[in-house]
Amino acid sequence: MTLKDLKPGQSAVIRSVGGEGALRQHFLDMGMIPGVEVTIVQYAPMGDPVELRVHGYELTLRLADAEQIAVEEIKKTEGASAEAPSEEKRQRQTDHPGLGEEGRFHPKGSGDPLPDGETLTFALVGNQNSGKTTLFNELTGSNQHVGNFPGVTVDRKDGVIRGHSDTLVTDLPGIYSMSPYSSEELVSRDFVLKEKPRAIINIVDVTSVDRSLYLTMQLLETGIPMVVALNMMDELVGNGGSVDINAMEDMLGVPVIPISAAKNQGVGELISHAIHVAKYQEKPLYRDFCGSDSNGGAVHRCLHAVRHLIEDHAEEAGLPVRFASSKIIEGDSLILEQLKLDRNEIETLEHIVSQMESERGLDRSAAIAGMRYDFIRGVTSECVVKPRENKEHIRSRRADRLLTGKYTAIPVFVAVMAVIFFVTFGLIGPFLQDIMASGIDALKEVCVSAMQRGSVSPVLQSLVEDGLFEGVGSVLSFLPIIVTMFFFLSILEDSGYIARVAFVMDKLLRKIGLSGRSIVPMLIGFGCTVPAVMSTRTLPSARDRRMTILLTPFMSCTAKLPIYGFFVNAFFPGRGWWIITGLYLLGIVTGIVMALIFKKSLFKGEAVPFVMELPNYRLPSAKNVLQLLWEKSKDFLQRAFSVILIATLVVWFLQSFDFGLNAVDDAQTSMLAVIAGFISPIMRPVGMGDWRIVTSLVSGFMAKESVISTMEVLFSPAGVESALSGLTAASMLVFSLLYTPCVAAIASIKRELGRGWAVLVVLWQCGLAWAAAFAVRMIGLAMGLG
Ligand code: GDP
Ligand code: MG
Repeated sequence: MTLKDLKPGQSAVIRSVGGEGALRQHFLDMGMIPGVEVTIVQYAPMGDPVELRVHGYELTLRLADAEQIAVEEIKKTEGASAEAPSEEKRQRQTDHPGLGEEGRFHPKGSGDPLPDGETLTFALVGNQNSGKTTLFNELTGSNQHVGNFPGVTVDRKDGVIRGHSDTLVTDLPGIYSMSPYSSEELVSRDFVLKEKPRAIINIVDVTSVDRSLYLTMQLLETGIPMVVALNMMDELVGNGGSVDINAMEDMLGVPVIPISAAKNQGVGELISHAIHVAKYQEKPLYRDFCGSDSNGGAVHRCLHAVRHLIEDHAEEAGLPVRFASSKIIEGDSLILEQLKLDRNEIETLEHIVSQMESERGLDRSAAIAGMRYDFIRGVTSECVVKPRENKEHIRSRRADRLLTGKYTAIPVFVAVMAVIFFVTFGLIGPFLQDIMASGIDALKEVCVSAMQRGSVSPVLQSLVEDGLFEGVGSVLSFLPIIVTMFFFLSILEDSGYIARVAFVMDKLLRKIGLSGRSIVPMLIGFGCTVPAVMSTRTLPSARDRRMTILLTPFMSCTAKLPIYGFFVNAFFPGRGWWIITGLYLLGIVTGIVMALIFKKSLFKGEAVPFVMELPNYRLPSAKNVLQLLWEKSKDFLQRAFSVILIATLVVWFLQSFDFGLNAVDDAQTSMLAVIAGFISPIMRPVGMGDWRIVTSLVSGFMAKESVISTMEVLFSPAGVESALSGLTAASMLVFSLLYTPCVAAIASIKRELGRGWAVLVVLWQCGLAWAAAFAVRMIGLAMGLG
């Protein structure tokens, strides 16, 4: 029987794991290995995928993949799964003298420290959601975005440890294993192997310690000096668990420091250990974890034979030999290539491996994964007292009954999104925006009257009044709405809800050729397309990534909000939030249609399997949310006073002078009118041939907000209402929803997909926008509007 045949609540022991290649390796790395117990938690509302529990954490899997995993049912006796903390174990706790402090690896005053002034580089490595970013922020005091969705950290971030100017810490994307599965996992592995940090800070989530230590063991094999930071100690201890730190250090051979990154506990101690280990280049005491007598010792003999076989090649390739050995036994082709073994050696390797496979009774990858988990079981049963139950986990299960329940999940998701949109655009946003706008207006009055009293030249007055205040000021007033939107998005992300949305929506997204994971970049896209495009790196297949990147621009970003708000205020007052929601929906529908077209044409084939961790819900920390909002506001203000300001000034200049640099009375004769005249004919059929509209749209390429700052400048003082019809405004709204993303977004698309795709996106979206605007105009005219 297979995993697929189990019902919710049923447990079973894995017998064998089918499938092949990177995906199968990923299953093994996530702890799905023969002999391990799994429990089905629930099926997604649409029946697929399935959520299961293994090694004490939750994982999602599609039915088609679950079918590949053969299991044997066990009858579960109530409460037998968690072992009760015994008194004896608790008493073994002692103070923490710790490895890596002076005197343990080398006598005091001896050792061979790196010369002063040499930068100590650290890699921060750990599973997704283990708290790397939180720790990074504590270490460096920097404002990094912290999220509770697997894979929020997609780019490399460096920072100096506070108070230690000769250090550099790099926050790497979360990985579960040193076998790369998605492109960002490869980033992390390459960083460790190629950039050769002076030391590794391995952050281990102590609430799912088994899975976390799996990565730790592979890091130990590299022989790079390392400290283990046991994070989330507050949760473990709060639930009645504990860790014998000294015993764990003895077994792992590296310093282990209990910390709580979120509560800033133990971080100081971690820093001093890490710096000491890096300074004295104290390597892990052990790299060997294959017991010579465990399971007949077949894996042990194989590993050591291979080790000797490849020793010289590994050295030449600059790879840690023990690490390379276990990787090529697993069948890692990237490492095998780097080793450049000759044919004889490869044959010998294959012989050794197949001998091991037949002695051990497991295939190569399962045997290595099994060896690792055997060692880990030894460590955790010796050193960790797991709590009988976990409050956070119970709370999450309870919340999931509603949030991922069969009949409630989708209504709840729709309701959540509706509330977010209503509050952002209908309630808080406009209210705060009004306050902001009146503030800016008041400031403008003061400046204008001051200039009039000081008899400043009319040209300068026009620059300040029309250029600065009308242009940049009108954009600035949208800051509150944008911040509100980001506030909600960050709450969704930090709380762990987005991961559930991915789980619930996977089946639907598969219908349009994507996987549930793609929902994350899409939701982030409602904030800004740039990070959305970057976050697609968490997707394990190139096909899914491409397709998702091409779709994210259809999710209206916050920079388009000023455009919507501006037109709604001017032409459709009172119906704002309906129209704006309609535009968002139109964008989504267009995206879906595009996806269906892509699926049939450019991107044939299936979306990648959906293997994802569902983290416990966590209350987003106020500090993290505030930091994010502060960053977004700063970003926005910087844009307003750089790109948007410059665009506004250029527009103002071009429309105030003619080619002879004479100030013009009628803007029709200005340079701008002449230049825009070249593009106007293309836009005339959609009713947007007015040179001022054309100019605004072109400036929107720099930054979407510029569309309205430009309009304010060009249509003042009469205002846009006097010049355009309601129908034109409607076409304009649809056009700006769909036409080319801004320069920054295009640049990030180019970085991910290359120049060709980026150019294609610009042309294609402009064409699409034109067609849609044309349709709106035709329908409107047919209805007798305009
Ligand atoms: P990353 O994916 O590894 O970068 O993890 P994050 O730093 O984004 O953290 C994931 C979640 O764990 C966030 O919601 C944090 O607030 C939370 N978290 C991080 N460290 C701790 C900790 O020590 N204790 C508790 N209770 N939560 C933590
Ligand atoms: Mg992170």
